[in-house]
Amino acid sequence: MDDCIFCQIVQKKIPSTIIYEDKDLLAFKDINPIDKIHFLIVPKEHIVNLMECKDRHKDILSKMLLLAPKLAVENGLKGFRTMINSGKEGGQEVFHIHFHVYGGSEKLAKL
Ligand code: AMP
Ligand code: ZN
Repeated sequence: MDDCIFCQIVQKKIPSTIIYEDKDLLAFKDINPIDKIHFLIVPKEHIVNLMECKDRHKDILSKMLLLAPKLAVENGLKGFRTMINSGKEGGQEVFHIHFHVYGGSEKLAKL
């Protein structure tokens, strides 16, 4: 999708700080982090959000989920929060599905 900012990041048409790439997925740092560590995992395929996902997307969704803890640990996190906003009413601002992974400060821990 030409007018999708995350498709443009996938195509390297606009810069981002990429922390992981394979044939299906890209992960990059969120430009406006809400915690010490905050990155996004996106499929290279343009999928709008979870509400648009079908059975055929189950492999890509499981790949995204399994990548989250791997990258979190690689980035020094001992625990993390995952967030997936779906639809305008769900707080989604970029309409290319992405998993937020963030943590690193003490604010998430109920100590
Ligand atoms: P959401 O509200 O779930 O759609 O989240 C969109 C996220 O994308 C926000 O946390 C933004 O800070 C982030 N974001 C928007 N543009 C960029 C960009 N060019 N590079 C990295 N992150 C971005
Ligand atoms: Zn896109």
